[in-house]
Parts: sequence; structure tokens; C-alpha cells
Amino acid sequence: MSTAVEHVAIRPDWTCGACGDGTPWPCAPAKVQLSEKYSKSDGDLLIHLAVCMWEAFDDGLCAVVQRQQPIPPDLRTRFLDWVVRPLISGRSNAA
Ligand SMILES: [Zn+2]
Repeated sequence: MSTAVEHVAIRPDWTCGACGDGTPWPCAPAKVQLSEKYSKSDGDLLIHLAVCMWEAFDDGLCAVVQRQQPIPPDLRTRFLDWVVRPLISGRSNAA
């Protein structure tokens, strides 16, 4: 791993501490760093991001107050879709 600045989330706002200016985490560099860190297991990356998403949900990042509500699509898109979509398209390409 390089000595590059690590792009980590600042809670409870879930903005990137390295990018500043309120950039939502995971920012583009964070996605690269996470992809490198979890390069041997997409499943572990997905689990890590799912936990982050739930923590963001818990931190009140979304407007939904009732816990019985499903995860809001914007949170799912922000935390998971950048990993899930390539996995799904890769799977369909392999078939
Ligand atoms: Zn960043």
C-alpha cells in the first residue's frame, strides 16, 4: 500500500475527511482504496459497505425515521451499487 492519504468517512455526516468540502463518502478515491484493500474478496467488500450503510442509517444520514422502512434507495446507491452492479454485469457476461 502506498503512503497516499486514506479517504475515510467522518461520522456522523459520512463525508470524506481527505477530500473535504462535504464530499460524500465513499468518494471516488475511497472506492479505489477499498477495491484495492478488498481485492481478494468482493464479498468482504460488500459486507464492509453494508455495515457502513447501516451505520450511516443509524447515524441518521437519511430522512427516514421509522426503522421498519427499507433502506432508502439513495443510501443503497451510494454505498452498495458501485460494487454490486459490476458483480452482476460480470456474472451475466460470464454466463
Ligand atoms: Zn475522499
